[in-house]
Amino acid sequence: MILPVYTYNHPVLRQKAQPIADLSDEINAFVENMFETMYNANGIGLAANQVGSTLAMTVIDVADSDDEDATEGPLVLINPVIEAYSDEEEEFEEGCLSLPDLRDVVVRPEAIQVRYLDRHMKEVVREADGLLARVIQHEVDHLNGIYFFERLSAIRRTLSQSKLKRIARGEIETEYPLFPNV
Ligand code: ZN
Repeated sequence: MILPVYTYNHPVLRQKAQPIADLSDEINAFVENMFETMYNANGIGLAANQVGSTLAMTVIDVADSDDEDATEGPLVLINPVIEAYSDEEEEFEEGCLSLPDLRDVVVRPEAIQVRYLDRHMKEVVREADGLLARVIQHEVDHLNGIYFFERLSAIRRTLSQSKLKRIARGEIETEYPLFPNV
């Protein structure tokens, strides 16, 4: 089932996600819905609060992106925590399904170490770099109530204000369903 995507400035996108203690049939079905929603919107990552849930969970699939080095298929990250960042940083243009039409170059660490539970609640500690590291950082930010534009310089943030207002007013059209914003 394709779920409507919540957009700026819905309060659920500001909420800090709640850890998941146990899987249930309901959560498993929700994971499938999140993947369906992400693929339908041509996204490569989706955090649970982007579809209105406060669960600490994100789904990611960078395999279909334009980046040939990014081959990692479907990933479910439950209760993800980024434990280490590389000193080396990288610039990359980001977009967000909750911020339709807004794109900007964000500087982030190039590589990370992340700890999470997979879709079978098995603990995973791994390193990621390149696009995968980028998407994990973007999605973990969502789970902490942070939008990517908050990582921009003050000037770039100011320049994005008019577009943010249009998103908040529900004036941006998308090819995927949005949760009504007003
Ligand atoms: Zn996003």
